Amino acid sequence: MDYERILIRYGEISTKGRNRNKFVDKLKKSVRIALVSFPNVKVEASRDRMYVLLNGEDCAEVNDKLKNIFGIQSFSPAIKVERGLEALKENSLELVRSLYRDGQTFKITPKRSDKSFELDTDGINHTIGGYLLQNIPGLKVNVKNPDINLRIEVRKEAIYLSCQTIQGAGGLPVGSSGKAMLMLSGGIDSPVAGYLAMKRGVEVEAVHFFSPPFTSERAKEKVIDLSQKLAEIYGSLTLHIVPFTNIQQTIREQIPENYSMTSTRRMMLRITDEIRKKHEGLAIITGESLGQVASQTLESMFAINEVTNTPILRPLITMDKTDIIKIAQEIDTFEISNRPFEDCCTIFVPASPKTKPKREKVQHFESFFDFEPLIHEAVQKTERIVIKPDNKQRSEFSDLF
Ligand code: ATP
Ligand code: MG
Repeated sequence: MDYERILIRYGEISTKGRNRNKFVDKLKKSVRIALVSFPNVKVEASRDRMYVLLNGEDCAEVNDKLKNIFGIQSFSPAIKVERGLEALKENSLELVRSLYRDGQTFKITPKRSDKSFELDTDGINHTIGGYLLQNIPGLKVNVKNPDINLRIEVRKEAIYLSCQTIQGAGGLPVGSSGKAMLMLSGGIDSPVAGYLAMKRGVEVEAVHFFSPPFTSERAKEKVIDLSQKLAEIYGSLTLHIVPFTNIQQTIREQIPENYSMTSTRRMMLRITDEIRKKHEGLAIITGESLGQVASQTLESMFAINEVTNTPILRPLITMDKTDIIKIAQEIDTFEISNRPFEDCCTIFVPASPKTKPKREKVQHFESFFDFEPLIHEAVQKTERIVIKPDNKQRSEFSDLF
């Protein structure tokens, strides 16, 4: 028996009061984006659940897509049945029969959210259970650990049957928590940071600093490829590419070498903050992890963070590298991040950057030069690209024919 719909249960929405409509709208959008390659599906959303009507699309393939959507707690392939005992009996039998293998056990989990139905939960249990036992030779009951758990949910409008509950990705739908700018390098960490922020509902725009000719087109391509991976989550991703060469050269001329890295980070943060303002973001996200490198000591963060009051989200701050790599592998960015490239920060990095820079010192060094016009110019010349998810798979596919 083919399932005709998938029932989606929401994540933390129940605690979100008035934000419910926004949550449901954003989740509906995420589901539509994830299922764009299934033209026949229809999405129906209500306050407490969502249905994907399959209209002939492959249930297992749709399940695979739903698994990755933030804001879904769990979901179940299901069948909608008219209210009425005969229809319930026949459809239950047909569904269990289509799943049953010799010697398997079952149980029924009834739920009656509409109490006006003719049978109560015990009645459903006995009537349907008895009917299945009568009609499927060899079928046995096992309430503790059944092979088949037939859930029967009686609602006002209909009865829903399902036998499988699949764990969702959890989190909040992308866009339900506002927008932030992700500082995206070509490294392993920042794509993971962006992914985790998206998982908590943040809509992300990426900002990348590059320094031609010291960094190559290949390095830029790498960042575009990483952006493409993140774009899969929400259908597209805006990437701001900031020309950073002038500022880096000025830093090299103006700032003592052991403070150049601190100053570079401060300039990056100032520029990102300007771009954030222009595009109405509320926060900045970085891939920093405490103590990982010289720029990521608390002293460094204290000296760098001074240039802005904007909240800086650091999803990886307490994570170990091995845990970060694990996520990078799961989200398929690790291979891309591992490609060799020149980062604008590594090419000018001094042999021994200060791990404990002082605010007053970096302020003092920066006071001899007015960086403001350079920052303004960099923001003006920032290139903006809207990146769509990779559709290589589809074009490779059509090449075969
Ligand atoms: P990543 O793996 O994300 O590159 P990292 O461990 O190499 O991080 P750093 O190079 O010190 O650490 O960078 C710290 C953070 O600063 C990065 O996670 C990223 O958010 C930001 N960043 C570094 N370089 C760039 C860049 N070229 N463009 C945009 N953001 C950058
Ligand atoms: Mg890096």
